[in-house]
Amino acid sequence: MPNTEMEQRQVVVIGAGPSGAIAAALLKRRGHDVLIIERQQFPRFSIGESLLSHCIDFIDEAGMLDAVQAAGFQVKNGAAFACGGEYSAFDFGDTFSKGRPTTFQVQRADFDKLLADQAERQGVEIRYEHEIINADVSATRPVLQARRPDGSEYAVQADFVLDASGYGRVLPRLLDLEAPSNFPVRKAVFTHIEDRIDCQGFDRNKILVTTHPEHRDVWFWTIPFSNGRCSLGVVAGAERFEGHDDLDACLKSFVAQTPSLAKVLQYAEWDTPARTIGGYSANVKALHGQGYALLGNAAEFLDPVFSSGVTIAMRSASMAAGLLDRQLRGEAVDWQGEFAEPLKRGVDTFRAYVEGWYDGSFQDVIFHPGSSPEIRAMISAILAGYAWDARNPFVAEPKRRLRMLTEICARVPA
Ligand SMILES: Cc1cc2nc3c(=O)[nH]c(=O)nc-3n(C[C@H](O)[C@H](O)[C@H](O)COP(=O)(O)OP(=O)(O)OC[C@H]3O[C@@H](n4cnc5c(N)ncnc54)[C@H](O)[C@@H]3O)c2cc1C
Repeated sequence: MPNTEMEQRQVVVIGAGPSGAIAAALLKRRGHDVLIIERQQFPRFSIGESLLSHCIDFIDEAGMLDAVQAAGFQVKNGAAFACGGEYSAFDFGDTFSKGRPTTFQVQRADFDKLLADQAERQGVEIRYEHEIINADVSATRPVLQARRPDGSEYAVQADFVLDASGYGRVLPRLLDLEAPSNFPVRKAVFTHIEDRIDCQGFDRNKILVTTHPEHRDVWFWTIPFSNGRCSLGVVAGAERFEGHDDLDACLKSFVAQTPSLAKVLQYAEWDTPARTIGGYSANVKALHGQGYALLGNAAEFLDPVFSSGVTIAMRSASMAAGLLDRQLRGEAVDWQGEFAEPLKRGVDTFRAYVEGWYDGSFQDVIFHPGSSPEIRAMISAILAGYAWDARNPFVAEPKRRLRMLTEICARVPA
């Protein structure tokens, strides 16, 4: 790597999305020097608009809660599921984990800018439109190569690098850390609409997840915002989109095949061109190495169905910031035992329910009318993001509990 200029910093964070902004603010609040290098100019579009309650814990920890509450985002108090004539709603005010009863549904362009501005206000330096293009972690202190908007390059050496680059997956790509996901390649087609929803029973305070009436592996999100608009998307195996070159027509046709959703959206104005993202599930061989750790989507992304992405991103940011603070103060820390393994436990909880969603077993549980309030409160805690609360039997043993519930649902007729 050419050593033209070598800037020296304590912590460099790659990316100013939710994981980068939260990690940077937490470290700055503990007295460390933090530089974020962000490839894009903010505000910028991002997908991932429905937050879970557990996110609010990290926003609060980073001193950003007042600003987020004042921003006027749509309050979210739970998740609702629909399939044909069936409907099942989970309330975040009634969870086993007794966490935050509400969270938000956010336009990510505004939300991410707000978090980054809050980090900046707390003293974090952010360089927008600077891109990390190379990394050398062979020395004790890693060196990053960055490109300015005018094309010129410079090097930054840091005590520690946090990769919060999301789908950019900067260090996994540059350091050959990428590993295949065990999920099949799925794809989403989505847009924002002026929703004009005037449907009895529709709850703007909840995300609505609707299953396609014929294909249980195909589902839609409807995420209302506070300004009368909503985010709408369909997710399916990539092969189901073959031959659908016109994204707007594709999304409309999937909605038209799903009468309960078509009814909710019957007066909607489709005013924004649809977008698509595919093959987003990703994994890595290691979450940390000498002088660096991976946060949020730069590490692993499972699936959008339970809106867990931003929660996992913020949780990883909070855990890494706590550990790095101790390391920078001279303490010996164990990144595998105190970061990678405990983080993975919650991710694996979500993984079990994502697998159960696509094989249909968790959908049977969600829509079964006979579940006890205690069991629904345990499931609700996971849907609210408390997937690390090992007191919850559905967190401690997700696969066994889900199997037991599926068997009970099969025995007890709906
Ligand atoms: C279809 C779909 C729907 C989803 N829905 C939800 C949902 O409802 N709720 C939810 O919680 N999650 C959802 N997610 C997941 C969510 O999008 C991510 O988990 C979340 O954005 C991850 O945050 P992050 O901070 O890790 O990364 P990001 O938000 O992606 O931020 C990464 C930042 O790094 C910057 N960057 C990238 N490369 C470089 C580089 N070389 N140099 C400098 N900067 C760089 C990028 O510009 C970006 O600003 C969804 C995902 C998909 C695919």
